[in-house]
Amino acid sequence: MSNAAFADGKFPVHHSSFIVDGMACELCESDGGELIWRDEQCRVVCVEEPGYPGFCRAIWNAHVAEMSDLNEGERARLMRVVFELEAGLRDLLRPDKINLASLGNAVPHLHWHVIPRFRGDPHFPSPIWSAPLRQPAAAQPDLAPFKKALAKRLSRL
Ligand SMILES: [Zn+2]
Repeated sequence: MSNAAFADGKFPVHHSSFIVDGMACELCESDGGELIWRDEQCRVVCVEEPGYPGFCRAIWNAHVAEMSDLNEGERARLMRVVFELEAGLRDLLRPDKINLASLGNAVPHLHWHVIPRFRGDPHFPSPIWSAPLRQPAAAQPDLAPFKKALAKRLSRL
């Protein structure tokens, strides 16, 4: 997103996702993707994003915006889930790189993106939010076995 998008003083994207006076938050109202695993504190979902097989998010269940809104034990729990997700994605998909990101500018509900990156993916080696460099691969792999294996790993946490 360029600064020029703000030039007219309007929110450029995701305006409806902003929390305004307690209005709807999409990560409070829905899982935010295909649910892979959850416990009382957090959950892992798989995101449908062309060109990004295995793109997952670890989402804190309660509506908080920042890591520093959590106590130390909660932070440790969420990061343990993120790191298990990272390790699982590496073992199961063998990506060239893992990207971890916590942004939340559009949806200020604490979540981590855990993104397996491949040299041929649409943005590599740039961040996935930059301008695409190539088309997503036409064929998408069958992710069902991966999701099952990931759920099993997370259930052992
Ligand atoms: Zn929320």
